[in-house]
Amino acid sequence: MKLTIECLKNVLKKPFTQKYPKERPAIPSRLRGKHVYDKEKCVYCGLCARYCPSNAISVDREKKEWSVDIGKCLFCEQCAEVCPTKCLVLGTEFELAEVDKGRFVFRG
Ligand code: SF4
Ligand code: SF4
Repeated sequence: MKLTIECLKNVLKKPFTQKYPKERPAIPSRLRGKHVYDKEKCVYCGLCARYCPSNAISVDREKKEWSVDIGKCLFCEQCAEVCPTKCLVLGTEFELAEVDKGRFVFRG
């Protein structure tokens, strides 16, 4: 009898699973997704690249170029934490699948 009651309760409950991608999931505000980089505020100090554990960031101070290879990134957020001007943050974009590896490189 206990089991029947439990089964009936679960039949009436809303499914726990989400119908992604048909329905968009609720995105946590602290999600560590794709980098958001503000070129205007960057001073090309290279700290983000130095602290990146997977060597995903490249900074060229002379050419004023910055890039990150999302394919290598661990989304640890260390780069954003050490950035002195806070021009680099991890945003909430998480749908980053690509078939072409070259498209993983995001240039600021
Ligand atoms: S740490 Fe910040 S300011 Fe320095 S190069 Fe990286 S993004 Fe630019
Ligand atoms: S989030 Fe971590 S792994 Fe990704 S680029 Fe920044 S420091 Fe490197």
